[in-house]
Amino acid sequence: MRSVDDLIAEGVSGRRVFLRTDLNVPLDHTTRSPVISDDGRIRASLPTLQALREAGARVVVSAHLGRPKGTPDPQFSLAPVAARLGELLGTAVPLAADTAGDDARAKAEALGDGDVLLLENVRFEAAETSKDDAERGELADRFAALADVYVDDAFGAVHRKHASVFDVAQRLPCYAGRLVARELEVLTRLTTEPDRPYVVVLGGSKVSDKLAVIEALLPKVDRLLVGGGMCFTFLAAQGHGVGKSLLEADQVDTCRRLLAEAGDRIVLPVDVVCSPEFSADAGSTVVAVADIPDDQMGLDVGPRTVEVFGAELGSARTVFWNGPMGVFELAPFQAGTRGVAQAVAAVDGLSVVGGGDSAAAVRQLGLDEEAYGHISTGGGASLEYLEGRDLPGLSVLTD
Ligand code: ADP
Ligand code: MG
Repeated sequence: MRSVDDLIAEGVSGRRVFLRTDLNVPLDHTTRSPVISDDGRIRASLPTLQALREAGARVVVSAHLGRPKGTPDPQFSLAPVAARLGELLGTAVPLAADTAGDDARAKAEALGDGDVLLLENVRFEAAETSKDDAERGELADRFAALADVYVDDAFGAVHRKHASVFDVAQRLPCYAGRLVARELEVLTRLTTEPDRPYVVVLGGSKVSDKLAVIEALLPKVDRLLVGGGMCFTFLAAQGHGVGKSLLEADQVDTCRRLLAEAGDRIVLPVDVVCSPEFSADAGSTVVAVADIPDDQMGLDVGPRTVEVFGAELGSARTVFWNGPMGVFELAPFQAGTRGVAQAVAAVDGLSVVGGGDSAAAVRQLGLDEEAYGHISTGGGASLEYLEGRDLPGLSVLTD
């Protein structure tokens, strides 16, 4: 896999680079115009962008934001991202009015050495995510016409077979950006003989998304700590009533089998913070997992669980954490995520945080990002990598 540094060594001055980045930041839509609530991904894209600019490249940046339905939707415009990117780079970053149309072409052609152009949200084009190779190919042809070479730095999207991630890379000389290279370096350390004990912490909201990861990781880890919304399907598999908590009933049998296979390697919460409503002001109580009231929902792990998880993390030498322990967006249900985040930060060894919401939680709860070995920008991508799956956006760079 050639890297952007190889490209710079070849000489990139005056050449147009199609740079796919991950600028999929959370937006607060409650204000009059959308406000970026966490700019971590924009900042993570800077090293590659700066290096290309300094080398005199003409950079055409492509990114997605949210899930527009394959058609232009002002709610998902990259305009706020262009503004923030410009501030961080200290230069104006114009935004093309389209993704790969006339305006994109005109603005790409007008670029001077070291200039940066942002194309409008790639997901405004239905073809971007199409299952049809020919549809994606037609869009990828238009992307390829905008530049001389392709650099992929969108680690958060490498598990997607999308036009701007996969197909365009087949049409231009392609290189991995610095963020992708750094992510791979860290994930390789997790998958090849990690220092032991190796502890994985999983939380977040959907079990079905993460069961495959659990399955793949179980033989490799010493402990798998399960919190967040997904723990209730496991607790139900143990025979506990979980009230109104998140429950994926069709996954209970799978969870039961995983628990049986895992022996003491899967560690579940011993207590949870419950509330009658999904709300910050409905009141909350801590109960043992055996005592979750029928009319309440578990929205965080409890303080004894934080101690149990903390003890496992305290002796770990390698840790991967994905998924908040509770609904950290609401103040009464932050403590579990905060406690685990602190324990992960204190690990004597390699600690990796993966996942958009997990990374946002670290920053939002005011924890020191520097205390972690690595904060991955890609949730799904890092999980699929750890599962050992083929990631189209990466394999295309090595073909
Ligand atoms: P990541 O983006 O880090 O991979 P996920 O997207 O899987 O994480 O999950 C994050 C979401 O999970 C958060 O919005 C959080 O509110 C939610 N969550 C965590 N615990 C619970 C719970 N007990 N009940 C409902 N939602 C939860
Ligand atoms: Mg998420």
